[in-house]
Amino acid sequence: MSKVLIIGAGGVGGVVTHKCAQHPAVFSEIMLASRNEAKCKAIADQLDRPIQTAQVDADDVEALVALIESFQPDVLIHVALPYQDLTIMEACLRTGVPYLDTANYEHPDEAKFEYKEQWAFQDRYKDASNMATLGCGFDPGMTNIYCAYAQKNLFDEIHHIDILDANGGDHGYPFATNFNPEINIREITAKGRYWEKGEWKETPPLAEKRKFEFDGIGEKDIYLLYHEEMESLCQNIKGLERIRFWMTFSDKYITHLKVLENVGMTSIEPIKVGDAEISPLEFLKAVLPDPASLGPRTKGKTNIGIIADGIKDGKRRKVHIYNICDHEQCYAEVQSQAISYTTGVPAVTGAMLMLEGIWKGAGVFNVEQLDPDPFMARIGEMGLPWQVVELDPDHDPLA
Ligand code: NDP
Repeated sequence: MSKVLIIGAGGVGGVVTHKCAQHPAVFSEIMLASRNEAKCKAIADQLDRPIQTAQVDADDVEALVALIESFQPDVLIHVALPYQDLTIMEACLRTGVPYLDTANYEHPDEAKFEYKEQWAFQDRYKDASNMATLGCGFDPGMTNIYCAYAQKNLFDEIHHIDILDANGGDHGYPFATNFNPEINIREITAKGRYWEKGEWKETPPLAEKRKFEFDGIGEKDIYLLYHEEMESLCQNIKGLERIRFWMTFSDKYITHLKVLENVGMTSIEPIKVGDAEISPLEFLKAVLPDPASLGPRTKGKTNIGIIADGIKDGKRRKVHIYNICDHEQCYAEVQSQAISYTTGVPAVTGAMLMLEGIWKGAGVFNVEQLDPDPFMARIGEMGLPWQVVELDPDHDPLA
């Protein structure tokens, strides 16, 4: 019987709250807190068991500490924004509450995200015998755990990893982003980056394009991007020579994005409009559809996974490990589309394993550093079944 404190009442926060509520034997008491309590109450109203709600500014460590001390949770799931990672980690450290998040720290004033500041908590979490689990969404999260599972069970050595993230969903709008638009746009207007033989290599934004046939979705254009899970995976998968990340975007999406970029709407630098200082990207976020509103409109599936290429028992081996998730089924279950669903379900599963003492340790962990087997054994029944498909080791599907 445990208490969970969830911070953030957006798309992912809604899924996390629904999923925790589905497991009363593990999460006997739930509190959902966010900047705007009305959003927490709206999610609470969708559930068939009572939960507590609260208002909190997660940029404020003292306010977080006060909330944690009053509710006394056994685990905290942070699904507000990456800007709040450090304040929430600090509050968990001060109160001795285990921490879990789904996205690495992002600097509010700079389009840059990295683990450095979160890894800097390592010694303090160790000394306090507390545990922080970083990046337990889908990517990062499930994709890291697929890599750890492959390393432990399918390979003696992994040489190449390609992470493939396909969204075959259609919401019917000409242009909208599937999760927080600011973070989404900042991610894809950045230079592409991948890691090879110990070095990071850069490509211009969206310059590397391939086609890939996705099970359940069909053939899609995929683009090489930098994505945060590579920062820890290149350190934690031994013998790795190269890791890349690919995401699907439709031509329509890229065209809208290029126009927005060309007219200056994707800049985070504030500009003066009359007497007001406005960041164009913040403004754009305000005029685009709220990602939470896409759920009831979105049809189609996601297919996210990894291709790992390496050696097993002296022979070359290549596998594709992936999950297929259906937007409409997600909406029917938790009133949210698959992007939020595929992020929220791993977060709840990770928090369960921490509460049950199956994932344990003192310090700060990226998920691939924890045992993948109990997670993989449970994630299917939690809503994200997976499969391993053997590929021809001599054929390169991304050539
Ligand atoms: P949303 O923007 O929909 O939700 C964010 C929520 O956090 C909102 O309720 C927002 O409040 C709240 N919030 C923002 N700032 C504060 C603050 N200072 N104090 C308290 N609450 C605050 O985002 P998503 O739900 O789509 O994403 C949530 C997290 O999940 C993000 O960190 C995102 O990067 C991550 N993510 C991870 C993925 C993965 O696979 N690993 C994939 C998708 C998302 P308000 O409603 O007032 O704006």
